[in-house]
Formats: sequence, C-alpha cells, structure tokens
Amino acid sequence: MIKKEFKAESKRLLEMMINSIYTQKEIFLRELISNASDAIDKIYYKALTDEQLVFNKDDYYIRITADKENRTLTIADTGIGMTQEDLENNLGIIAKSGSLAFKNENEAKDGHNIIGQFGVGFYSAFMVADQVTVISKALGSDQAYRWESEGTDGYTIEPCEKDAVGTEITLKIKENTEDDRYDEYLEEYRLRSIIKKYSDFIRYPIKMEVTGHRPKEGEDGGFEEYKEEQTVNSMVPIWRKNKSELTQEDYENFYAEKRYGFDKPLTYVHVKADGAVVYNAILFIPENTPFDYYTKEYEKGLELYSNGVLIMDKCGDLLPDYFSFVKGMVDSEDLSLNISREMLQHDRQLTLIAKNIKSKIKSQLQSLLKDDREKYESFFKAFGRQLKFGVYNDYGANKDVLSDLLLFTSSKEKKLVTLDEYVSRMPEDQKYIYYASGTSVERIEKLPQTELVADKGFEILYLTDDIDEFAIKMLMNYKEKEFKSVSSSDLGIEADADEAASEEEKAENKELFEAMSSLLSGKVKSVKASKRLKSHPVCLTAEGDLSIEMEKVLKSMPSGEGIQADKVLEINVHHEVFQSLKDAFEKDREKLGLFTSLLYNQALLIEGLPLQDPVEFTNDICKIMV
Ligand code: ADP
Repeated sequence: MIKKEFKAESKRLLEMMINSIYTQKEIFLRELISNASDAIDKIYYKALTDEQLVFNKDDYYIRITADKENRTLTIADTGIGMTQEDLENNLGIIAKSGSLAFKNENEAKDGHNIIGQFGVGFYSAFMVADQVTVISKALGSDQAYRWESEGTDGYTIEPCEKDAVGTEITLKIKENTEDDRYDEYLEEYRLRSIIKKYSDFIRYPIKMEVTGHRPKEGEDGGFEEYKEEQTVNSMVPIWRKNKSELTQEDYENFYAEKRYGFDKPLTYVHVKADGAVVYNAILFIPENTPFDYYTKEYEKGLELYSNGVLIMDKCGDLLPDYFSFVKGMVDSEDLSLNISREMLQHDRQLTLIAKNIKSKIKSQLQSLLKDDREKYESFFKAFGRQLKFGVYNDYGANKDVLSDLLLFTSSKEKKLVTLDEYVSRMPEDQKYIYYASGTSVERIEKLPQTELVADKGFEILYLTDDIDEFAIKMLMNYKEKEFKSVSSSDLGIEADADEAASEEEKAENKELFEAMSSLLSGKVKSVKASKRLKSHPVCLTAEGDLSIEMEKVLKSMPSGEGIQADKVLEINVHHEVFQSLKDAFEKDREKLGLFTSLLYNQALLIEGLPLQDPVEFTNDICKIMV
C-alpha cells in the first residue's frame, strides 16, 4: 500500500472543505454525478467511434446507493474509469490550480467563496464525508485500484478487485453536529430531490433503490413496503425540451451542473434552429468575469454534441474571440461523430452554426441593451473590454458587428452611453464625435484640452480604458460621423476670434515660440498658440496618429521602448502668464528658459506623464518664489 501526502494546495483546500460552513453542502452530489456522467460520455464516445468496442445502451448508468447502517453513500458509474496514475493525478492534486492562490489573497478562509466561485468537484465530497473511497478500473486495464483518504493526512492507493470497468465512490457520511444534519444524505427522499434539482438532465439513467407500497396479498388487505430500482432522473437533455416547459431556474441549474461558471448566468438564450442547418444550443453570458479571463490560460469554446453525444469539451471554432466569454453547448444532428479537431475547422455545417451563433449572441446582447440597461451595463463592466479588443483586432474586420454594443462615459450624462445615443443628439453644428482620454473620468474632466469643446456645449466621450483609443482609431467613424480627439489640431470648431487676427498674432509671436521650441528641443515638436484653451495657460497635445495616451499604453508594453508621440506644447495667448513670457523673451532670456521649463513640466503633470527631472522642477518653483 502506498501512502501519499496531498500537494500543499490541495491540502489547504481539503481543510476548507472539511471545516466548511458552506450552506449548500448538497451540491457535492451534483459534482460527483457530473464527474460520473463525464466519465460515461468518454466511454460512450469511444464505443461509438471504435468498432472494437461493443456496448449496449443499457451498459451506461450511474447508481446511487445509501446504506444507513454503515452510514455510507456510494456513487457508482460505468464510465471510462481511472488508472492508478489517473487516480494520483486527478484526485491527488487539485485540478483547478491557481483558483486557491487567487482566492487566498482575497477573502474568507471558510471555503465559502471557493465553493461559490470555482466549485471544487471531487473535493466537495469532504464537506459531508469524513472518509472517501474510490475504487476504479480503467478501460483497457486488467487491474483495479482503491484510492482512500480521510482528509488532510493524505491518501492511500492499492490494487483491489473490481469486475467491470468504471468507478465507485463511497462516502462515509459524517455524524450529525449541532449545526448540520448529515443524516439527510442517507435519506432516499432527500437524495431524490437533490438529484431532481441538479441532475435531472443527465443523459444517463441515475438509478436508485426506492421504496414503494403495494396492496398486501392475502385476506388481511393493507399495504406492504417493497424495494425497487428506479431511474430517478428524466434524462431528457434540457436543450431538447421545449422552451415553454423550462424555467429560469432550470437553466441556472444546468449552468451550475455543467460547471460553465460558478456564478449565475446573467442572461441566456436557447436556440432551436431548423433552417439551413439544424441544431440546438444554449448560450450563457456569465455574470462575473472569470478570474483567468484576461490571461493566456483562458480557453474559449462551447461544448459540442453530435446528436446528443458529447464530441468536444471546448470547441473554440464556434465562438469569435470577441464573444469568448460565452459559455454553453451546441448539439447538431448534422455533424459527424468522427470529426476530428482539424477537420472541424473546414466543416461547412460547423461554419454555418458558428455564424448563426454569432448573430444570436449579438441580438441577445442588443435586446439586453434595449430592455434591461442595468443588466447590460453590468455585462459591459465584466466583458466590455473584450468587445473593444474585438473592434481593434484583425484590423477592424469586426467593427461593424461590435460598434453598436459599445458604451463610453459621457461628459454630459455622467454615465455610460452608446455611440448611437451620442450621435442622435448631436447638434446641427457639431461635425465630430469628440473624445478625451485619461486614466479616470475625474482626471479627464479637468483636462485643459477639453475646455473649448465643453464650452461649446458639445458632449465628450471619456475614454478611460487603455484599449479605448485604439478601438476608436480603428472605428474611425460611426454613422458617418468622424471621431475626433479633443487634443487634435483641428477641432472643427470655429474659433471665436476671427482667423485674420489670430494669423497676425501668430506672426507676432513667431519668434517667441521658436525660442521656446529650441529650449524644449527633443521634448516637443513645436510650441504654438492654442485655439482650445480658455482658462488654463498650457497643455500638451499630439500631432499625427499617435496620441499621448496611446504612447503611454504602448510604452508600458515590453516592445514599447522608443515610442514617441509628436508632442506640441500649446500656450494660451490670452492668459496672463503669456504676458510674462513675452516680457521675459524681450528682457531676460534666462527667465524665459525658466518659464518655458516650468510650463512644459506643468503640461506633463496635467497629462499624467512623468517629469524627467522632478528635482529641477521643484527648484524652479523655489526660484520664482524667492
Ligand atoms: P473537474 O471535474 O472539474 O476536472 P474534479 O476534481 O471533479 O474536477 O475531478 C478531477 C478529475 O478526476 C476529472 O477531470 C476526471 O478526469 C477525474 N474523475 C473524477 N471523477 C471521475 C469518475 N467518476 N470517473 C472517471 N474519472 C473521474
């Protein structure tokens, strides 16, 4: 017999399970039945695609046996089974590694959140049992093994006897405590109701010995009890049922049973397509962003069934990247069982289904936007970033699909608005869709660059996400209205002062600006009189396609070194400070140097850019103070 320790992370998780105060302990049964069903899926699929294997439909089932005297509950399946190695690898270490590390820092040591947010599959057995025994024989193996554990101490593995291929998990149910009645997990009625609630749609029969009553034979009459094995689940997969028969709770249970997520779905759509391609699908949009969503580890995809048989866990080809948050399944009679991953990409049916699904998701999101704004905004908070990446990626190939789904903060409404809402209330004389970028709404609101546009009463979209401006640049326009940064050189707003006067001003100030430019050479491309500043003395803008915000984003990337926006220092010639500049230019060139440097550094600070020499800056301020 080999005795082994659990890996540290699994040990901690087990501890949590054992001491869990989680109220929904009943879900352990759902988790174990779901594992059993997955294991049968695997062997069933093999049998259908491998001529060497012959199975009968009746060979696939799950059996639940409660033994009150010995306080044991057994979940047996005729699935693919586990080898010794599988037992070690699958049950000795926690599959969802990382989830614990992630939760650790955040909250609750009682395991509540881990169970609530990630589920823990097999380990949940330890919420109700103080000993778990797994006896399993893998397909194609002659030897069966027994895995046993009483919790954190570790587990043992030894060879044992088992005739048929499959797995048998026996839980030694805990004794009742003051707070918890564990006895109920040995009660027939309670087990049946848990199965009905969470596992009714499992495709294989879940068999259980149930008690019935029948008239007693003989003269005395009366009733007698008898025991009989029955299938306690309906077995009709939810996606085959009529939508009218199903409640929201059914879909939510299905989502949990399938472990699509450990939150609740925010919304779902049940598709029954019988046009050019016939398929059923249930698509869910999760409520929360999965913890690994914006990492490389996250894998998109839907479960793919061919006429009720699971052929792939995560078929990525069914979802475009920008909808990678969607969970769910697709079942089609038109797909061959034997289709390989490589072949799938070229399968015409699958391509059609994927196209169809894409538009279903889009219209689901659009109706959410229309009918339940609050929910849509919470969706957008969770996954909006992905949509914006979608606009930007593939050189904007999908921007038309996505532009109607975007939301940005409006300067006027102080809340999220759609582009359509923005454009539809643009006044006659407004030519462009204006936007301003920065790290937060509060900071953008104070940007001097927004002054002229805001003064005109035009609405500005505040871009606070690092991807925002890239997406906007890719969109270029919306409903024929061009996007325009409040920092761009031509704002399309007629300046109040007439052009001739400002031309004159330019000539007059030309030399001053040139002097300032050369003082700032290498830092800015030019210095010029600002058309957009009203009350502030100075600001930085950029010429060309690369804005200052984009420079910041790109610079923070590994390959971003050396990226430089063409910066322009804009001076408000109507500000008092400008007179001081002029005086210094005429009388005291050293002072001009000091003022120029101060103004430049102020502009950097306003933009949220680092000062090249903060000490010099503070020294400069002291100089003018004394
Ligand atoms: P998950 O099911 O999310 O992967 P679990 O901890 O529930 O996590 O199970 C870990 C793994 O153990 C499964 O992925 C599966 O490979 C294996 N396993 C669990 N139960 C069974 C079973 N009844 N039959 C065969 N394999 C199983």
